[in-house]
Amino acid sequence: MAVDLGGTNFRVCSIKLNGDSTFNLAYSKVAIPKELMVAKKASDLFAFLAREIKHFLQQHHGDHFEQHSRRRMTSSSPDGYKDEHVFRMGFTFSFPVQQIGINKGYLIRWTKGFDIPDAIGKDVCALLQEEIDKLHLPVKVAALVNDTVGTLMARSYTSPGKTGAILGAIFGTGTNGAYVEKLSKLKKPLAGEYDNSTGEMVINTEWGSFDNQLNVLPNTKWDDALDKSSVNPGVQMYEKRVSGMFLGEILRLVLVDLIKDPKISLFRDENSNSNDWHSTTTIAQNSGIYRQWGLDTSIMSVAAADNTPELSILRQELETVLQIYAPSLEDAQAFKAIANAIGRRAARLSAVAIAAIVLHSGKLSDPAYKDEPIDIGVDGSLVEHYPYFRDMIFEALRAVEGIGEEGAKRIRIGIAKDGSGVGAALIALIAAGMESKSAAATAATGKKTNSQFIEELRSEARSKDIPMFTIKREDSEKAETTTDE
Ligand code: ADP
Ligand code: MG
Repeated sequence: MAVDLGGTNFRVCSIKLNGDSTFNLAYSKVAIPKELMVAKKASDLFAFLAREIKHFLQQHHGDHFEQHSRRRMTSSSPDGYKDEHVFRMGFTFSFPVQQIGINKGYLIRWTKGFDIPDAIGKDVCALLQEEIDKLHLPVKVAALVNDTVGTLMARSYTSPGKTGAILGAIFGTGTNGAYVEKLSKLKKPLAGEYDNSTGEMVINTEWGSFDNQLNVLPNTKWDDALDKSSVNPGVQMYEKRVSGMFLGEILRLVLVDLIKDPKISLFRDENSNSNDWHSTTTIAQNSGIYRQWGLDTSIMSVAAADNTPELSILRQELETVLQIYAPSLEDAQAFKAIANAIGRRAARLSAVAIAAIVLHSGKLSDPAYKDEPIDIGVDGSLVEHYPYFRDMIFEALRAVEGIGEEGAKRIRIGIAKDGSGVGAALIALIAAGMESKSAAATAATGKKTNSQFIEELRSEARSKDIPMFTIKREDSEKAETTTDE
């Protein structure tokens, strides 16, 4: 089982191995209520998450839930009664934590509009387990997973080829990436217990805070305005130029400036004759355009996708979503051009982080990768839905010194759909295995390379008849695959 607390949505999923060479994914998603993102107490948010887990279990695992929640009533923690009846849950928590164990990590800071000071410095697994226990759910938080790590994991299973993905990256509400690093290259002292048998470790870069000093990042007055009125001014400066939560707001700030400018007639007609729809443009007073965060990035995808001569789809969307009525063709063209500039800048900046990891990995000149693609798993609504986002990333990768045309051809960027959730469920499985294995047995496995490790995990899955390539969604008619190749 896995839960995924992103910046916008909370997802709950469970994966069932069918034994007939498929596995089913039951899945639910709710928007996180805005007021809980800035709640007074951590328990306000975490109690909401526990309630959602309960609803999910009732809906998708009714029998198991009834039977075992009754038994759980009699014990205060999931360790207190027969263990195999407890769902092992991977907890994808997409905020910076100091992780000191497989299911233990202290929150460093909130990002993406969240601000609950009470939670800072606390173990987020314990916060969730506490609320789960209050509801007597048969669930144990078995693994704490960053969404980037989940994506890396899911992609390594599903991407074709011998080697796993080298990078898992998120372009959703926020942006971040995790990659595989040699232990010998780590300079930081490591706290807590970890398995060093592969000689490698996954590093969560928290690249959202790259160049907070703005030494190299582009900066406009709108970037400045956005940052100043955010809940975390001065940090996550890279993220604020790249990810879904922010692109719409940058666009909104630019548009408001243009609307206010008397010399420019954006969304304003002299009279109805100057508008090709023969109606005067009006903006409703309660339009999102006048509200902070009132313009969702998804309309930028609509703008980018609309190639009709009259931009009729975008103009319809401006009416229904932003209550801007009868926008002229010129208005829509301006909207599209500005949105595209912001989207393209975001994609090109995304390429900077990806290129840095590719170059740092040395894989472009590694003989082991001679005939293997350099595989990157990505997840998040922005990269999934914004038209040509990956094409624009590649356009920029080709321009990076050390990558170029040839290097870019060898890089494969694939969507790991809901990778953060699926990966967390896989990690929860491994965590459950670790619980049962004795320390001695683990030590006896000796040193493994990353690709040996991946091959071992895959063959274990194969021996259990689990294809890692097909995921059937219970809530959709047709089978979906997690890869898009
Ligand atoms: P989370 O970050 O919570 O895991 P998502 O990956 O779904 O969630 O990302 C949500 C973000 O993606 C929001 O900021 C939203 O504005 C943006 N978004 C949602 N749909 C689209 C779309 N069609 N095009 C571009 N951005 C989108
Ligand atoms: Mg996410």
